[in-house]
Amino acid sequence: MQVPSVTSTIDLAAEGKQLGHLRYPKISNNGGWAYDLIPIAVIANGDGPTVLVSGGNHGNEYEGQIACLRLIDEIKADQVHGRIIIVPVISRDAAWAGTRLWPSGANFNRSFPGRPDGAPHEQIADYFTRVLFPMADVVIDLHSGGHAFSFIPCSHMHVVDDRAQRKAMLEGMLAWNSDVHFLYVDVNGAGLLPVEAENQGKVVITTELGGGGRVPVAVHQLSWSGLTNVLRHVGVLTGAVETRESLGLPPAVIIDGRDPVNYVNTDEPGFWETLREPGDSVREGDPVGRLWFPARPERGPRVFSAPRDGIVTVVRAMTPTLAGDSIFVLGQPIDASELL
Ligand SMILES: [Zn+2]
Repeated sequence: MQVPSVTSTIDLAAEGKQLGHLRYPKISNNGGWAYDLIPIAVIANGDGPTVLVSGGNHGNEYEGQIACLRLIDEIKADQVHGRIIIVPVISRDAAWAGTRLWPSGANFNRSFPGRPDGAPHEQIADYFTRVLFPMADVVIDLHSGGHAFSFIPCSHMHVVDDRAQRKAMLEGMLAWNSDVHFLYVDVNGAGLLPVEAENQGKVVITTELGGGGRVPVAVHQLSWSGLTNVLRHVGVLTGAVETRESLGLPPAVIIDGRDPVNYVNTDEPGFWETLREPGDSVREGDPVGRLWFPARPERGPRVFSAPRDGIVTVVRAMTPTLAGDSIFVLGQPIDASELL
């Protein structure tokens, strides 16, 4: 198979702290033989696991990107046992544009496994698949709700089939020490970054760190405290591992979103008004939100109700809503022991 078209300007196998770029062919009207760059950093020191941390898989999910940039800024090589590879802002142009998708329309999180002879997003996905994932023991990919969704700030995971991998992922997810964790299923296509990493047997830890527009101080703090505690938990960062118990917090709630009926969409456009906040408990049939029809005020609102008892995990944060859009997601509390 063709070698990856993406190259790193730094030696990912070298010791110490290095900052550089991933370089890939640039497609533009501004001349040929050009390349484009996204930042990458590696902090390595002796023996230990390799952890890949990525932010900006989706452009307008900034919580994780800022935590990654802070990691690059603050962590020194002598605090590391093993290696942390950080790609802080994968979808650079989308991040600057404030959009989920690339300006080309590409969804980086539907681009895996990627291909070396594809479009730039596919070339970068191919580099993750064939170069970065094989180096890594643990893959941490940081998401949030972007502009469209308001999530309970949480770490989350797929319930993978392999029991040892599942246990390690569950422990890693819990080490984020968020109030809530979420078990999700893919109801919207294939080609996700975490799925490719899971298929390679990696311990994959992902997040949904809030969203909806502004990033509150508490969410920045949770992004940082969770990420660094997970890095200590997996042994790549020095320092004592904290638990919710050691922090004086009650046990976290794990919300099981594996029943696809929990993902509620609208079949017609309108203006979304939420009647519930993320974290609210609802009973089956309770109103969760309603859609207004600005072109037909005489119609009144259409109410959308909870399809099951559960906890509201996500609500739509954008008012304009198109036919087919997701409007809220529920899940049901589950005990961690049921997952082992
Ligand atoms: Zn995302």
